[in-house]
Amino acid sequence: MKTELVIDLEAEKQEILKRYRALLRASKSTLQKGDKKEIRKAFDMALESHKDMRRKSGEPYIYHPIAVAQIAAEEIGLGTTSIVCALLHDVVEDTDITLEDIEREFGKKTAKIIDGLTKISGVFDTNSSLQAENFRKMLLTLADDVRVILIKLADRLHNMRTMDFMPRHKQLKIASETIYLYAPLAHRLGLYAIKSELEDLSMKYLDPDTYKFIAKKLNEKKAERALFIKKFVEPIDEIVHEQGLVADVYGRPKSIHSIWNKMKKKNIPFEEVYDLFAIRIILDSAPENEKADCWKAYSIVTDLYRPNPDRLRDWVSSPKGNGYESLHTTVMGPRGQWVEVQIRTQRMNEIAEKGFAAHWKYKESSNDNGLDQWIQKVREMLSNPEANALDFLDDFKMNLFSDEIFIFTPKGALIQLPLGATALDFAFEIHTDVGATCIGAKVNHKLVPISYKLQNGDQVEIITSSKQSPKEDWLNVVVTAKAKSKIKSSLKEEKRKIAENGKEILERKLKSLKITYNTDNIQKLSYFFKLPSTQELFVNVALGKIELKDIREYLSSEKEVENRGPERPENLTVDGIKSKIKGGESDILLIGEDMQRIDYTLAPCCNPIPGDDVFGFITVSEGIKIHRTNCPNAAQLMANYGYRVVKAKWNRQKELTFLTGLKIVGIDDVGLINNITRVISTDFKVNMRSITVDTNEGIFEGSIMIFVNDTEHLENLIKNLLKVRGVTGVTRFDA
Ligand code: MN
Repeated sequence: MKTELVIDLEAEKQEILKRYRALLRASKSTLQKGDKKEIRKAFDMALESHKDMRRKSGEPYIYHPIAVAQIAAEEIGLGTTSIVCALLHDVVEDTDITLEDIEREFGKKTAKIIDGLTKISGVFDTNSSLQAENFRKMLLTLADDVRVILIKLADRLHNMRTMDFMPRHKQLKIASETIYLYAPLAHRLGLYAIKSELEDLSMKYLDPDTYKFIAKKLNEKKAERALFIKKFVEPIDEIVHEQGLVADVYGRPKSIHSIWNKMKKKNIPFEEVYDLFAIRIILDSAPENEKADCWKAYSIVTDLYRPNPDRLRDWVSSPKGNGYESLHTTVMGPRGQWVEVQIRTQRMNEIAEKGFAAHWKYKESSNDNGLDQWIQKVREMLSNPEANALDFLDDFKMNLFSDEIFIFTPKGALIQLPLGATALDFAFEIHTDVGATCIGAKVNHKLVPISYKLQNGDQVEIITSSKQSPKEDWLNVVVTAKAKSKIKSSLKEEKRKIAENGKEILERKLKSLKITYNTDNIQKLSYFFKLPSTQELFVNVALGKIELKDIREYLSSEKEVENRGPERPENLTVDGIKSKIKGGESDILLIGEDMQRIDYTLAPCCNPIPGDDVFGFITVSEGIKIHRTNCPNAAQLMANYGYRVVKAKWNRQKELTFLTGLKIVGIDDVGLINNITRVISTDFKVNMRSITVDTNEGIFEGSIMIFVNDTEHLENLIKNLLKVRGVTGVTRFDA
């Protein structure tokens, strides 16, 4: 359907100016003499160069750069240079304006930042497998000027907020990248508010049903919750002021994404998530009183409510690496419910909300080198050209999200490591050579193995031996990206030497069998032995795992190999897959842009059933695999291999059944299992594949694998199972 677009240009012009003035108001606090003129110049340039462009929604394109600049100013607290760059972030990429033009008008610094933004703008948009490599490039610009990444985050946030007009497969891809990379990056830079919003928006597109379900549940109990918070806060507020502290005490809801994470992690229904909100006490303290005031407030709270001794977190004495400072405790509320309380000063709060930029503003206040240290680490990791880009990305991503522990050296220096770090991680943190030769450690003067998991506050002394060298299984021992990449490059070097040796041996062997040594034959051999690369082949030969008799065996079956050949990426297209199909009645699922009927298999990681929101993923050797969009592996697949994602849609059917799992919990009762199986087998005529039941002190927990037609069928079954006496919860699980 086509709709005529009627545009009132005069009204649009007014709206553009209105938005521009709102931007100026948002940047007011950082404006200095001459800044306003500079911003106006950037605005005029952006307006002129984007004048004929519109967004997918039909709105003038200029709304986007204005909005990005507004986020940069208001939500990240960035200054004039960044606002100028945000306004111009798309002009070099999308219009005739060149970097030279920018440099002439706005100077070197601005041109450099826009250059960085332009370079990374194509990072995820290309149909190539180079996303990981590009992400690495993006981090290189981060090492140059963090503002590039901060503006990029503002850009991404605005795109996520306005994604409704995008086609579904683009929404999925953009949302996946966001949850996979941008949210962790925002987290690492301490932009908690932006991180939470990015996560919620991603979930809105990747898992719309769950998102709506939790949003609805939150809304239902809103008034009740507000009342509880009011009653909880009142006495704190009173005593805090009595004791002469100036403070703002309020309740703050947790994000939908974090609530969902808790439900999944603890396998509990929404009703049992206790921390749907946190209480915040924000103190207005003089710099010299900050710490004392926080503890004073802590003392007031814990006099009123009993604290859980395991849940005290002191990031005031030792701030997190991203600059976060706060005192967290969990106390028992008046209705026997645990409540998290966060205590911090206004300065700390601004850092918590706006991250790095605000941090920078208060530079004079000590211990703020966490971010500098981190950027230094990023530089180190990037400087290792040996590292495989995808591996690097995975390691790096993991390090973005982890919490930190603080470890002491024998001389009392403080080293920050991610939670779960081992003695070996610590060794690599000290120095690559110390890590490579590490044979053990003394933790608090006690001898421990290299795999020892360090605890916050441990004092560690590393023991080395010149005879030691990195081993393959060390990769399972370490968690830091630095240690991983150092171990990998050392193993790689060793492997390279072995492979070189193996290559010579293989050449001799082939000669004796009168086979020519060439690339083609070597590739055929690796394929025959099911090895991922020719290097692996050489290594296997060198280690004696492939001998002369094995190669003879290959010779006798060579004919067959010729007909197959290894899979090449060119086959990774819908059409490539299609040509392989001989007939088949796969009319349940329609795949690709033109919704063709193509063979597929259902991914075992998420067991999709008809009705689920799904996508197809083109695999290297197993054709098209169908995943649910909320599959735990989906974000990683879509973010790294967007070009291999194809659209997939269910066709309605009632003949075929699909395997799925249900977790049933309840109060153990005579006949409970009978009643459950009666509903499943007799009432619903559903076939069960397996059932396992666990009862513990009167609590019943069952896992049932069943065959259903589609999600509607499944939902009806769940509804009826919930009616069985004693059953308190029924949830679907994946694998
Ligand atoms: Mn943009």
